[in-house]
Amino acid sequence: MKNKSVAIIGTGPSGLMAGTVLAEKGWNVTFFDHKKAPARKFLVAGHGGFNLTNTDSLSSFIEKFDRQHIRDAVANFTNDNFRAFLQKIGVETYAGSSGKVFPIKGIKPIMVLTKWLEYLDKFNVDFQYEHKLVDFSSEQLKMEYRDEIKTLPFSKIILALGGASWTKTGSTGEWLDLFSQKKIICNSFQSSNSGVVFQNRFDLKPLEGQYIKNCKVYSNSLERFGDITITKTGLEGAPIYALNKEFRIGTLVYIDFKPNVTIEKISKTIAQAKNNTDGLRKLKLSKIAISFLKLILEKEDFKNPEILANRIKKMEIPFATFQPIDKVISTVGGVSFESVLPTFELLSVSNVYCVGEMLDWDAPTGGYLIQACVASGYSAGESIGNHS
Ligand SMILES: Cc1cc2nc3c(=O)[nH]c(=O)nc-3n(C[C@H](O)[C@H](O)[C@H](O)COP(=O)(O)OP(=O)(O)OC[C@H]3O[C@@H](n4cnc5c(N)ncnc54)[C@H](O)[C@@H]3O)c2cc1C
Repeated sequence: MKNKSVAIIGTGPSGLMAGTVLAEKGWNVTFFDHKKAPARKFLVAGHGGFNLTNTDSLSSFIEKFDRQHIRDAVANFTNDNFRAFLQKIGVETYAGSSGKVFPIKGIKPIMVLTKWLEYLDKFNVDFQYEHKLVDFSSEQLKMEYRDEIKTLPFSKIILALGGASWTKTGSTGEWLDLFSQKKIICNSFQSSNSGVVFQNRFDLKPLEGQYIKNCKVYSNSLERFGDITITKTGLEGAPIYALNKEFRIGTLVYIDFKPNVTIEKISKTIAQAKNNTDGLRKLKLSKIAISFLKLILEKEDFKNPEILANRIKKMEIPFATFQPIDKVISTVGGVSFESVLPTFELLSVSNVYCVGEMLDWDAPTGGYLIQACVASGYSAGESIGNHS
């Protein structure tokens, strides 16, 4: 075994960052991925705007995560640290009005990845593709390469295998079986940052793709403001994603279509209008929001001014399920934090670390996912580099 040799399995942002830290510290780094090319999901994340992190203040940033290990990692490798790293490799970033951080105009997602790989090229690193992890221990890996099993010794191993959505990118979650066989505590994968699917009595096709702007989505304990999009089967958009956890545990979630207008004003406006639809127009509800309400509410409820006023402030979302797991932005589930130390080393298999989305944590979109992935990779890399 080469001295200070580390294998990183998975070439998404968490694996790349873990490998970068160790390469900078002089380690021999071998990256493996079962796909033919690196970081496929990272590139997919760039399709609708490459939101790499967020300018949120540290205290507000770390509140977005539901697990202490991830909060600690993000406090240790912050949004500013990540932006400084990106600048170091030649990727300038800017922050949009909502705080989301993107590469500056003209820098495409593939260019971010290329810059990162070019930076890594300066060090002692190697990339092995089409290598699938089939087993691991404290000292070695078993990798399947074109029907052949290779047994490879390493002093440290970092697993960065991702979650279970968008399987065509390589993040299949299949490794969960191997972990279960090894009695490593894991939780089954579930959709996160997902749109919701309504009970099937609603036909939303006529409104598919339309927005309802500036509403509030809320439960008893959480509220988010913003725009939501009507899909063929339900709703999606940042406020819906942010309340995924509430839907998951069975809490009722509502829409307030006029968060800045009191129920009294709404009731009065509807009462004084020619009819209820006219009242909604006077309240400046968009055509889409009015059509949506007509579609969701029982006819009698829409006709009743008092009930209608109440529904404008509090319309229960008729949640049936989430979008299929393969279509969602991220997943919860995977390796339980009961199985890892704060350094991300597995409790039951020393020298082996797990980082990124393969761990069971949750966060909203908005740059928080990639930040948590790179931060956990950074922490594992630092821990290995500083203590070996
Ligand atoms: C459509 C979409 C949009 C997104 N937009 C954003 C966004 O704007 N901002 C944001 O912060 N996040 C976004 N995300 C989420 C973000 O891309 C992921 O959270 C992040 O890529 C996870 O990084 P990771 O390194 O943990 O795993 P991944 O990026 O999933 O990488 C895991 C790697 O492991 C490899 N692998 C898996 N199993 C094996 C095996 N057995 N052997 C060998 N290799 C294996 C895979 O091929 C893959 O390359 C988006 C995701 C999607 C799908």
